[in-house]
Amino acid sequence: MDQRDRLLWEINRARIRRIATKLSLVFPGVGHFYCGRFLQGAFWASLIPLSIGLTFSIWQGPSGGHAILLLAFALIYYLAWVDAGRGFRETAAPCQDACPSHINVPDYIALVRLGRPLEALALVHDKLPFAAFCGRGCPHPCEQVCVRNEFNAPISIMAIKRYLADIGYAAGVSPSPGAGGSIPSPGVAIIGAGPAGLSAADTLARLGCRVTVLDANAEPGGMMRYGAPGFRFPRDAGLCDLRIILARGVLFRGNERFGRDFTLADLGREGFDAVLLAVGADEPIRLPGAGGEKEGFLDALTFLSRLARGELHPIGGRVVVIGGGDVAVDVARCALRLGAQDVKIACLESREAMPASPWEVEDAVAEGVGILPSTAVKKFLVRQGRVAGFEALRVDRIEFGEKGGIVPHTVPGSEFEVGADWIVMAIGSGPGKESIPASAERKALDPGHHVYRLIFREKETRIPAYACGDCVRGPGTVVEASASGRAAALNIYEHLCVQEVRKARFVDNFRRAGEPQLPDRPEWRVRSEAPRLPPEERRRTFQEVEKRLTDEDAHHEAERCARCNLWL
Ligand SMILES: Cc1cc2nc3c(=O)[nH]c(=O)nc-3n(C[C@H](O)[C@H](O)[C@H](O)COP(=O)(O)OP(=O)(O)OC[C@H]3O[C@@H](n4cnc5c(N)ncnc54)[C@H](O)[C@@H]3O)c2cc1C
Ligand code: SF4
Repeated sequence: MDQRDRLLWEINRARIRRIATKLSLVFPGVGHFYCGRFLQGAFWASLIPLSIGLTFSIWQGPSGGHAILLLAFALIYYLAWVDAGRGFRETAAPCQDACPSHINVPDYIALVRLGRPLEALALVHDKLPFAAFCGRGCPHPCEQVCVRNEFNAPISIMAIKRYLADIGYAAGVSPSPGAGGSIPSPGVAIIGAGPAGLSAADTLARLGCRVTVLDANAEPGGMMRYGAPGFRFPRDAGLCDLRIILARGVLFRGNERFGRDFTLADLGREGFDAVLLAVGADEPIRLPGAGGEKEGFLDALTFLSRLARGELHPIGGRVVVIGGGDVAVDVARCALRLGAQDVKIACLESREAMPASPWEVEDAVAEGVGILPSTAVKKFLVRQGRVAGFEALRVDRIEFGEKGGIVPHTVPGSEFEVGADWIVMAIGSGPGKESIPASAERKALDPGHHVYRLIFREKETRIPAYACGDCVRGPGTVVEASASGRAAALNIYEHLCVQEVRKARFVDNFRRAGEPQLPDRPEWRVRSEAPRLPPEERRRTFQEVEKRLTDEDAHHEAERCARCNLWL
């Protein structure tokens, strides 16, 4: 099966499941027959006639038990409907289930163990085109659920992914050739070249579409390129991921801002058959009373994007970053590297409840960043036209408001002053003004609400429009944005080429080769960690902190994996 056939089957399988759930509502079991699950279909279809037959055979007039029977019918309908939507049981290891992109982790780790890293990289690329980025900066939910947590420590899944990306890109891997022959090639415009838009572009190009990605920035990459700092994610590594996507024939048009330089109607006139909005959430949220840059106030996204463009000069004095997430930690670590003498993070949460990844906070503290937990800004202090700090209040506890916003409860009379020469706000961001048009009605296309179809009443655009990524779900992670871009691409293709999709059939020629048995007990081996720069060395340099696993360590880690998917 080539990659296009696999993608087509993936779309068709989801389509068949959707139809099966609807048919199940007509009569339990019909949906199962539709998708070829005859035994289960016969089981569900027999339940209601059986119950009716049984009832009439012992009928002695209406009784309370009949109400229970009615409830049982409703339950049969409901359970048959749920089961029809699940389709055939597919076994997935916990790590694969936990990954938002559902990468086949156990199989790619097995390929590393067999010494076939390039094939392992291809398996990652099947679901996620950002192996280099996610091998370095993913929150790795897969490791949190890895069964090896019960035997000393989880497999270093993220480090293995980075190992593959580094090895594969250094060997000059190129995208596998697309399907030949005469296949439909509709034109799709994608607005936004962040991970969501690029992942959609990658998937659509593999399906044979002509894809053009338009972005307000000069270069593609979105927050991966203009947000994440170089000591965690060097620019060259990101370029490797992007090169593979563009090499699939994706066209990139930079410096074109949607809403300013073009509209959806313009894209329709250009001849595109569908459009996807993936413009991210890059409008910073600011605290009331904060001044402008001249007074010494900055927001995190401006700070980081200027740094990425090489426009930020060394800064001295005291820097306070307000916010408790990963972005605040990134800003603080960058400020240290830019020469600030004293850097602190002030956040509403206690140290343990900070939303930032604990390992990032640990790294920042080891480099010399101070943390001011349970601290709320009461008012900013500006003296002689420059920020001098802020008056703060101790936070007793925090609650979450109806819309998910944080409501701090402060301790009356606990005021204290925090001095600062620069204040950087890292308290979140939302979609900008030129994001999804306000006139668009949204229809969710997946249960997780990661992809929307946009419906315009005034026929603003005659071509189908979709939205995905951070602009619909709020700030998230690269792997989540990539998963929503891929899902959007599959939905778009189904809409444009449903005839092609209907033809797709499941043919799996892949056979697992027997793996050599290991003479020792690899589960008792300790986890191999990637080497890192010591804190005193890294706090003044933008050099990458974490290095890649050695060949031996990657192999050693792969041997620790239990291949849970084979036992489930
Ligand atoms: C500082 C920082 C560090 C991060 N670090 C990590 C990390 O280590 N790991 C991780 O997993 N996630 C990280 N994230 C989160 C991650 O980068 C985002 O969740 C992800 O990039 C969102 O992808 P997206 O494609 O939806 O949006 P974006 O990446 O924001 O991309 C949107 C694109 O749309 C373009 N655009 C916006 N408006 C328009 C318009 N009107 N017209 C045309 N183009 C437009 C933008 O220029 C941008 O290129 C970080 C985020 C930040 C801010
Ligand atoms: S042991 Fe291997 S297959 Fe099992 S959860 Fe961990 S990484 Fe996944």
